Amino acid sequence: MFSTSYIEISKSALEHNIRYLRERIGEKAVFSSVIKGNAYGHGIEQFPPLVEKCGISHFSVFDADEARRAEKCKSPDSHVMIMGSIDHEEVEWAVEHDVSFFVFQMDRLQAAARAAEKLGKKARIHIHLETGFHRFGFESEQLDEVVDFLLKNKKKFVIEGICTHYAGAESISNHVRVKRQIVDFSEQLMRLKDKGLEPKLRHTACSAAVFNYPETIMDMVRVGIAQYGLWPSRETRMRVLKNQLNGNGGGEKGIEDPLKRIISWKSKVMNIKQVDAGEFVGYGTAYLTSRPEKFAGIPVGYAHGFSRSLSNIGQVLIKGRRARVVGYVNMNAMMVDITDIPDAKPGDEVVMIGKQGNDEVTLSSFSEMSNYLNYELLTRLPEEIPRFIR
Ligand SMILES: *Cc1c(COP(=O)(O)O)cnc(C)c1O
Repeated sequence: MFSTSYIEISKSALEHNIRYLRERIGEKAVFSSVIKGNAYGHGIEQFPPLVEKCGISHFSVFDADEARRAEKCKSPDSHVMIMGSIDHEEVEWAVEHDVSFFVFQMDRLQAAARAAEKLGKKARIHIHLETGFHRFGFESEQLDEVVDFLLKNKKKFVIEGICTHYAGAESISNHVRVKRQIVDFSEQLMRLKDKGLEPKLRHTACSAAVFNYPETIMDMVRVGIAQYGLWPSRETRMRVLKNQLNGNGGGEKGIEDPLKRIISWKSKVMNIKQVDAGEFVGYGTAYLTSRPEKFAGIPVGYAHGFSRSLSNIGQVLIKGRRARVVGYVNMNAMMVDITDIPDAKPGDEVVMIGKQGNDEVTLSSFSEMSNYLNYELLTRLPEEIPRFIR
């Protein structure tokens, strides 16, 4: 395959993250690895087998298409769960393949019953409760109808889980709202229990909730961003590091980041240009040379996921040194300043995300510069970029 850049996934960093998260979560709860959004840009085909080697056998995706892709590369013993979108026609596919899915509308529940009837096989469902996110989830007024339907159609369902999702567990500014959700969830759970509905798995926690509200861990967690070695927010990272520091009496090791980024993104220098002082570089007037300067052309642009908002701001590594983006990031290319890296030459490795020599471009510094969250930046890395396991 021809590509102007490539992505590396570090197996050892992933193992480290999973081990650390397992410690936080405890041995009992099921660890569901969230692999929506092309496994947060890491590659939905490449990622599941790696996580399976770390002892994980449960995957969460957003829609039926992602489920289909995950089904193809996971081991037969692993399970896939759809948290969001699934059409009525896809419900049948899911039941047939033992894929579980969230239900938060009566018509989906009815479609599941029809599929189960037709296939002679139980639909594995998770009842998603509205607790204050106000996006998906059955309203509490609907629950009587839901329970009636489930009790009448007992043979068609495995009620695998009851779940909800928090509206911003990564920030203290949502504390009151999240706390209210936690209480609301447990109240609704009791109500359902009284009516004779008991799920195998109660699950509510995403990465941020695991760190900030450990009481939400329950029977299963749905962890995305943290397994990739990134924090759901800077605030969460600071809180965890601070507690770690206090716990260790503030020793040197106390401030080591317990999560390790597993993705690197690299390319090569395409060409080199020498430009006199007082010349504009690239489209328009975005960059003017103030001295004789030397630039490297990199065959990576915003079509490849390198945001245009990093124009004149972004940095890459060449020969272990930082080179700043000059002018606009183009669709397929950008120029970087190598005036102070005189030995750089075509073919040299360029690191957009990752380590080179003693320096590193981290995703968080990268996303702060471009006003993206880690999540958005990662999922914008095109699927076509080849991914390699290291
Ligand atoms: C994306 C998602 C998660 C995982 O969130 P992270 O912050 O990446 O851990 C969990 N639950 C639901 C419903 C999600 O959509």
